[in-house]
Order: sequence, then C-alpha cells, then structure tokens
Amino acid sequence: MIRLSDLPLREDLIGQEPYGAPQLDVPVVLNVNENPYPPSPAIRHEMAAAVVSLAGGLNRYPDREATALRSDLAHYLGHGLTAADIWVANGSNEVMSHLLTAFGGPGRKVLTFTPTYSMYPEYARNTCTGYVTVPRRADYTVDTELVLRAIAEHDPTLVLITTPNNPTGTAVDLDTIEAIAQGTDKLIVVDEAYQEFSSRPSALELLDRYPRLIVSRTMSKAFALAGGRIGYLAAAPAIVDACRIVRLPYHLSAQTQAIARVALAHSDELLAQVRALAGEARAFEAWARGRRYDVVDSEANFSLIGRFPDRHMVWQDLLDRGILIRETGPAGYLRVSAGTPHEMAILRSALDELSPKLEGNPA
Ligand SMILES: *Cc1c(COP(=O)(O)O)cnc(C)c1O
Repeated sequence: MIRLSDLPLREDLIGQEPYGAPQLDVPVVLNVNENPYPPSPAIRHEMAAAVVSLAGGLNRYPDREATALRSDLAHYLGHGLTAADIWVANGSNEVMSHLLTAFGGPGRKVLTFTPTYSMYPEYARNTCTGYVTVPRRADYTVDTELVLRAIAEHDPTLVLITTPNNPTGTAVDLDTIEAIAQGTDKLIVVDEAYQEFSSRPSALELLDRYPRLIVSRTMSKAFALAGGRIGYLAAAPAIVDACRIVRLPYHLSAQTQAIARVALAHSDELLAQVRALAGEARAFEAWARGRRYDVVDSEANFSLIGRFPDRHMVWQDLLDRGILIRETGPAGYLRVSAGTPHEMAILRSALDELSPKLEGNPA
C-alpha cells in the first residue's frame, strides 16, 4: 500500500494534519458553535420538496452564478444590496478561500489578530499566502491604532477582522471598523459569522462608503444550517467579480442552492432562537463568574472560560460524562457553545462535580 510519504506532496504540506474538531456521537454536543435547534418539520418538508422538484433537472449543471440565491441573500441583508453585491459558496470557508485565491498567493500576505479562528492559517497555507498575526490586546479587543500600525508594519493585501471573534466572542464596534477602513486602502474582510447573535450594528452599514470593505457571513451558526454549507459575502461588485474568476465551475450544487433558498424564505422562524441562544451563553457566563472562573466578554453564541491548570483533563472529564466542548483559545481556556437550557444545565452540574479538581477555581 502506498503511503502519504511516498507521494510527491507539496513540501509545505508535509507533516500537516487535516483540520478537525472531534466529531463524536455523545449526548451533549457544544463544541462547534452550531445552533442546537433543528429546522421544524414544516421547513424540512419544504426542503425535501424543493430537492424532489429539482431532481428532475439533475442531468443539467446548476446555475453557476447562483443568481436567485444571491438575490435572496441580498434581500435578507437589506441595506439596499442586490445580487451583484453578493457572493455565495460552500460555507464561508470557501468564500474565504476564494478571497485568498483572488487577492493572496505567493509573495502576498493576509493579516489577522490573534487569538482568532483556527481555519484562517489553513486558507492562507492552501493558497500559498503569507499568514501574519498580531496579538489582540490583553482583553482580546482590537483598536484602530493597533490595526493600522500592524498594517503599516506588514503591508498585507488583505486584513481579516473577526467580530464577534472566535474563540473569544469579543466584538469590534462599528466606529473602529470605520476608522480602520478610513485609514487604509487595503482590503478589509470583516468576518461576521456570529453577527446575528450580537446587538451591535453590522459593518454592512459601511459598504457603500468603503468599497474595499468585505463583509463575510454564514448560514452555519445563527441560521441553524451548518449541514447545508452556505457562506456568503457582501461587497462591491468588483470584489464579487474577482471571486467569480477563481471559483470552480458550478461550485454550488443545485440542492445546496435550493435548500438555502427555502431556509431564507423562513428566516424569521430559523432565527427565532438566536436571542435565546445568546441569552443562554450570557447566563452561563454569569454562572461561571459566580463560580470564580475567568470569563471572557463574549457577544456570540459561545463562551470562553478558564483558567484550567490542565484544560485537557477537564475536556476529557466532560467528554467521559457525554459532554463535548472545545479545547481551543488561549492556554488554560475552554470554549463552550450555547446549547438548549437542558444541555447547559447538564454542563453546569458536570463542572460543579469537577470543580474540586480545578485548582484556583473553587466553587
Ligand atoms: C464558524 C465560523 C465560520 C463559518 O464557517 P462555515 O464554513 O460557513 O461553516 C466563519 N468564520 C468564523 C470565525 C467561524 O467561527
């Protein structure tokens, strides 16, 4: 049998591991910031009917430009956007790959602020784009000066600003984003994967004034459609055109487009749990503060708590009790996605049972 090491793998990929939070079949899954509420039976049936009706045309390629879906997404976002301002792909991971393929590449750099999303370095690596990071401030915020100084120092083509940030949940206010956009002519990507959970205004408000600003969104989190794989961006049509050049032909399947359109037609219902989930995360944080954990200020549907002298032990102990959370973020911290009230109650009692073992965090 041929082994990976026998193959002419690209040199920079040798020794690399595939991305992956563990996918384990346990009762309480709180590790990848999914919405715990599945679509209702009525929406499921409508999705199934949409797939049945397009199946008769599966011998043909899908709409390469996904125009109807882009127009629905523009309508959902509002702000006077139209299909020409929207790009859509298989998750915002593919949207980011398109941006880095179009605007990155050998000799170019993407800049971001750590700790942040663990997929960014992978998109950069795959597209042979230099990946430059600058630490956030001690409270995980970024400010205009820090960002503009980093841009001046590293001269990136693209700057990624994640708000609310993953894994810290830290948000950046709109004035800061605007001041950054005003202070640079670099492309600024604002990753708003968790925007629906936050009560701050979106960077979409700035798009008409700052043509080098790109707002990235996903249906994986708030929309409860992680399995559907739909991510999108809003930006100037010229940026969309750049993505169209590098996308694989027919990248978005007919069934993906159809399912996303059904979901968007029911956005009110699918987004109904968003406030409750944000509330669940804030309530968990208040509880954790009461138990004297260190808790990062989050505006997303997840919480980052610490500091655990041995976070892996805690992660494993919880897993042994059927609770899967995420070992990520700064040393000593663990990330917990907001689940149902029942799931959060199970987590809280498990942490209380463990707490005698958690030095520095007596209950
Ligand atoms: C989850 C997440 C995404 C979304 O990824 P998809 O590919 O759309 O599922 C994007 N950015 C951040 C920061 C995330 O945490």
